[in-house]
Amino acid sequence: LFVTFEGGEGAGKSSMLQEIGKDLRQQGYPVLETREPGGIEIAEKIREVILNRSHTAMDGRTEALLYAAARRQHLVEKVVPALQSGKIVLCDRFIDSSLAYQGYARGLGMDEVYKINDFAIENCMPDLTLLFDIDPEEGLRRITANKGREQNRLDLEKIDFHQKVYEAYHQLAERYQERIKIINAGQSFDKVKEEAEEVLKNYLPSKHE
Ligand code: C5P
Repeated sequence: LFVTFEGGEGAGKSSMLQEIGKDLRQQGYPVLETREPGGIEIAEKIREVILNRSHTAMDGRTEALLYAAARRQHLVEKVVPALQSGKIVLCDRFIDSSLAYQGYARGLGMDEVYKINDFAIENCMPDLTLLFDIDPEEGLRRITANKGREQNRLDLEKIDFHQKVYEAYHQLAERYQERIKIINAGQSFDKVKEEAEEVLKNYLPSKHE
């Protein structure tokens, strides 16, 4: 079972992933918790190229191709083997992040970005995507309250950018209703977790297979 966690800044998806992973493990499920580039050497190196601020202006399509390349390597080296060994894979961000960030918010076009990711992923789409949905301003407030942690990033990416990411995720949820389930991330941590686990429950394999 391949589950991806998506959402804008401050939606709490990463802490939720850890929490859900812990619960699944306690229930006896084999779990792999991961995030791109996932400690995969080649993917880490690609990520370094993307994040290296000394490249003054990376072309948007170059960036999208690099994300797709890092994604593929992480998928092939880590995710697919885990799925083949019967693990539940929980992955923090995947194709929908590229569609939302590069495709929509950065203006490359979601369909264009989908094409290169389709090539990279080769049908290995998530079975379920949990979209942690929070009003972008509220998400940003949560992060800045969290002292400096993400401050630099927020200075670089202003609120209208995050609004676009938000809109994009909603368009995706509309388009892929079967796969993407919206979780109201504006609630308390426990409530969000309850809602996410309620959705996930319907996808869990029998432990005795
Ligand atoms: O929330 P998280 O730490 O996963 O966010 C990483 C950041 O990387 C995002 O806020 C976004 O700025 C950037 N990102 C991106 N395109 C992707 C994935 C992440 O721009 N495909």
